[in-house]
Amino acid sequence: MNPKRILVVGAGHVGLYAALRLSKKLSSREAEVIVVDPQPHMTYQPFLPEAAAGNISPRHSVVPLRRELRRCTVVAGTVTRVEHDRKVATVQPIVGPAREIAYDHVIVAPGSVSRTLPIPGLHEQGIGFKTIGEAIYLRNHVLDRLDVAAVTPDPEVRRSALTFTFVGGGYAGIEALAEMEDMARDAMRYYPELKPEDMRWVLVEATQRVLPEVDRDMGAYTVQQLLKRNMDIRLDTRLESCVDGVVKLSDGDSFRSDTIVWTAGVKPSPMLDATDFPRDDRRRVTCLPTLQVVDGDRVVEGAWSAGDCAAVPDLTKEPGNFCSPSAQHAVRQAARMADNIAAVIRGREPVNYKHKHVGSVASLGLHKGVAQVYGVKMTGWPAWFMHRTYHMSRIPSFNRKVRVVVDWSLAFFLKREVVALGQLHDPREEFVEASQPVGAPRV
Ligand SMILES: Cc1cc2nc3c(=O)[nH]c(=O)nc-3n(C[C@H](O)[C@H](O)[C@H](O)COP(=O)(O)OP(=O)(O)OC[C@H]3O[C@@H](n4cnc5c(N)ncnc54)[C@H](O)[C@@H]3O)c2cc1C
Repeated sequence: MNPKRILVVGAGHVGLYAALRLSKKLSSREAEVIVVDPQPHMTYQPFLPEAAAGNISPRHSVVPLRRELRRCTVVAGTVTRVEHDRKVATVQPIVGPAREIAYDHVIVAPGSVSRTLPIPGLHEQGIGFKTIGEAIYLRNHVLDRLDVAAVTPDPEVRRSALTFTFVGGGYAGIEALAEMEDMARDAMRYYPELKPEDMRWVLVEATQRVLPEVDRDMGAYTVQQLLKRNMDIRLDTRLESCVDGVVKLSDGDSFRSDTIVWTAGVKPSPMLDATDFPRDDRRRVTCLPTLQVVDGDRVVEGAWSAGDCAAVPDLTKEPGNFCSPSAQHAVRQAARMADNIAAVIRGREPVNYKHKHVGSVASLGLHKGVAQVYGVKMTGWPAWFMHRTYHMSRIPSFNRKVRVVVDWSLAFFLKREVVALGQLHDPREEFVEASQPVGAPRV
């Protein structure tokens, strides 16, 4: 038989795990697996807060695709269109003209993007917290603001530099806020010009609680811990505008802030608009519990989806509930999907995905955390330790696990690294200056 071609759109939690499993399960006579992603790596997003805080090297919170997917064809590019009625995808490689790739099965896994609102100034001033680039930028930016605050004679400039605003109190927002504050507080010891009390860390959350993934008492504990660290927690409050860095809140308060991080949820990747897959009212690809795409009650043959971009029924709950967008579901769905694709190729029936969300673990900085796993609640050091061991066990590849543990151990003995590499964001500046023709006007 001719090998079936399986096209994987996006090599994130779903795409990488599914491709790995398919390439192990199916022989080259049965299938060839093509993986398309514009990035050369999968980003293990739960480690972004630790990477931003300098506990882990950013390189170690990503997994190189070509190293892990040696039995797959990896294409560095973006899928710009999928015409499933023809079973053809259009791929724009990172260089050169777009090309079409025909397939027998497609795994639609482009994940999600930040869900923003039309708030004046947000587009110009805000930054998300979903990519390794954003995590590295934020780390450099926060440390750079400490330098600015330490040298400026202007109290307004100092206040604005030392005000850090985070919008959205889910686990991404809370972890990012708590880890970065922890890092900045640590760095303060090298700034005799500044006091930790000079910093203002603001969390703006539209609902009455944080961490909706855990019970209310755990959310309340988290707020208490952040308040004890002098953070400014605004529940039931919305960001109304941030034009030119002037933050205006729905409670009437207004202040300048050089840092505005948007972590208020995600929405399915907009690339799905260029496909002919059926979608639900939240723009997610509609799926059966087998992870096959479904249009009404018709199975869309050869189309599979999972992760943040898919509406997968949660069979552990009442009908009408869907799996939450989480790494926990994404990696398990990927495994089930790979097994199901292999089964269908071999003429067998696919099996339903069923997984009861075991809970959440969140780090609130070094040695601080909150966890609720299988109904067991933990706080402080045990929760933080659980967060680390859980995520260390989940990050793909032995290589990454070892590197992450070495990073943690080095930080334990040598203290965390608190140097800003702001030059990374404009590396040619010095060379452009040095290579100016003699007599040319300086720019
Ligand atoms: C800061 C942060 C912390 C988190 N912490 C946790 C946690 O503690 N526990 C938990 O369970 N979950 C956590 N999550 C959520 C979790 O990371 C996501 O639910 C998970 O990554 C979803 O997997 P996915 O495969 O759907 O998408 P992703 O992992 O985002 O992968 C999508 C991939 O598709 C690629 N792509 C996008 N568009 C295209 C295109 N057009 N063509 C080709 N490729 C494309 C992207 O480059 C990316 O590689 C966290 C998320 C964030 C941002």
